[in-house]
Amino acid sequence: MTTRPGPQEAHVPVKPKHAPAAAATPDPYFPTSGDHRYRVHRYELALDYRPGPNRLAASARLSAVADAALAEFALDLAEFRLGRVLVNSKAARYTHRGGKLRIRPAKALAAGAAFTVEVHYTGNPRPVRSPWGGLGWEELTEGSLVASQPIGAPSWFPCNDRPADKATYQIAVTTPSPFTVVASGRLLTRTTRASSTTWVYEQTAPTSPYLVTVSIGHYRPVPLATRPAVPQTGYVPERLVPEFTRDFGRQPEMMAYFTEVFGPYPFGEYAVVVADEELDVPVEAQGVATFGTNHLGGGWERERLVAHELSHQWFGNSVTIADWRHIWLNEGFAKYAEWLWSEHAGGPAAATHAAAAHGLLTGLPQDLRLADPGRKLMFDDRLYQRGGLAVHALRRALGEDAFFAMLRDWTSVHRHGVVGTAELLGHASRYAAAPLGPLFEAWLERPELPPLPG
Ligand SMILES: [Zn+2]
Repeated sequence: MTTRPGPQEAHVPVKPKHAPAAAATPDPYFPTSGDHRYRVHRYELALDYRPGPNRLAASARLSAVADAALAEFALDLAEFRLGRVLVNSKAARYTHRGGKLRIRPAKALAAGAAFTVEVHYTGNPRPVRSPWGGLGWEELTEGSLVASQPIGAPSWFPCNDRPADKATYQIAVTTPSPFTVVASGRLLTRTTRASSTTWVYEQTAPTSPYLVTVSIGHYRPVPLATRPAVPQTGYVPERLVPEFTRDFGRQPEMMAYFTEVFGPYPFGEYAVVVADEELDVPVEAQGVATFGTNHLGGGWERERLVAHELSHQWFGNSVTIADWRHIWLNEGFAKYAEWLWSEHAGGPAAATHAAAAHGLLTGLPQDLRLADPGRKLMFDDRLYQRGGLAVHALRRALGEDAFFAMLRDWTSVHRHGVVGTAELLGHASRYAAAPLGPLFEAWLERPELPPLPG
């Protein structure tokens, strides 16, 4: 799918949710991830995890639909010892190497057929190696966390690891009773037997594999807001509770503001985990964000991270990119959310942040194409800054009322869907007095930095 805009595309109608075109090809940045010939609707994961020896004994049951006739299909799964692998409750042949579990069902699947896959596996989960360091399941001094973006999900469960393949999840985690388990979704039950407790979470919103998370640790729940607002809870090491309460004290206000400018919060709850370790960067998951101890301490540099992670619930988690070329749609809007919050909270205006970002980028190499940065530059800081600037340029081009109407409708039309840059151009053009093709061309397709907008 091309994202290159042209004048004739200025009034492309908005594509329906789950645009099939986006789902039909392998990801250009991670061509070995996922299998685009089927879609998963639901995962049921049952994990038994022992933190000391870092030992996982698990089963995964997937409900899926074949989009083509399949004599075999693949799941992504890191190195584990495999037990039974069943398709439609019947033992299936498989091979497992290089992170791919290739399964050959006893009976081939017909195009359009619904099917189930059950995989039993055990082992010591560890992060998947990547150019950005280890991704996925990470053992901590006391417990574990999951931070998968972009390709770490197979470190702990067999999945169709494509952002466009969204499913609902049930996650049951059994672990020694002193530990607290936080996972994507709503806690359904918590049952203690002998010295172990089983925590069952249900995520009913369609969720990309990379956004599924589990955190296990010694955490104290800290309610930040309860109903009728969106329930917001911190899970924090006991000694850090006062600091957390101070640093995240404005998050409910942020939630109220973002709900006003981005539209209704897309999920049932929002949890913030502060892992008892220093982490490189905070990371978003579905209805959850994970921070490190080093992200506490106050000041704008940390407050902006609170806003950034929260905004990903709209931009990235609900409105999800069809493939990783479109990463700027996550990070550009999250960067701009930081600036909007600053403006709203009485700090510097978004225009001031934009000018600073522009000044920064002026002195850096201009070899990044926002709409398709390449795998190497997909998490480059320039993508974040320029992404924020591109959104600012859009705001200046549309004007205040049209820009915010466009933003709210974008998260509403594509709620729980998948999008690319072409969808944003088509959508935003409906709110513009003049064609947006030239603006998209300058900010998204060309590497040279355009002048500061407005
Ligand atoms: Zn981000």
